[in-house]
Amino acid sequence: MIDLRKDYDDIKKHRKALVDELKELEKDEKVKKYIELEKQEKKCHEIQTKLYKNMKFEEYSECKHLLVYSRIDQDRREGRTYKFCGCIKCGLTDEVLDEALLEEDIKSLPYKEKVMHDYLTENHIWYLPGKQLHISCDLSLARGIYSKIMEANPDIDEKTAICYFDKALHNIRNTKVSEARKKSRAKRLSLNHKFDSWNSDDIYN
Ligand SMILES: [Zn+2]
Repeated sequence: MIDLRKDYDDIKKHRKALVDELKELEKDEKVKKYIELEKQEKKCHEIQTKLYKNMKFEEYSECKHLLVYSRIDQDRREGRTYKFCGCIKCGLTDEVLDEALLEEDIKSLPYKEKVMHDYLTENHIWYLPGKQLHISCDLSLARGIYSKIMEANPDIDEKTAICYFDKALHNIRNTKVSEARKKSRAKRLSLNHKFDSWNSDDIYN
């Protein structure tokens, strides 16, 4: 008990010294400026976060989704297959509605996915509406290809865009290339440098 009391008194004294030093520093003009800027930055971050959510909600509701199967879960025991979908235009995916996600997992989803989850649940969307392309493809790959097509041909109609998309994906999947070429292709499509889900089988869980 005596040891604990001594430890407590020591740390209390040390903390008091730190608080005093902090208070003294706060009188400095540069430190005052630092604290003020930090406050402003925090406020900006809050506004930015809200704007991102509003912006994405609008984008998702206005998009006429073009859907691919972005992940396929197979429950071999029950013989059930569940296909998750994702939009190759706006990136919205119902993977964030995975029933296996616990309340805790949902809270810790990356912010972008949390916004998708909020959008779908707040609007009671349990199945993504839109045109189903019936293609199994990693969503980041599909989006990479689609955005490159639209970048090069901004005025094409949707039917042509789908046709180009089909062709591009077919070429990617059926042309044998070296690992180095795959890496540079991933870079061109703005995919993660570790990307390795080129084939339709790669999305099976
Ligand atoms: Zn969409």
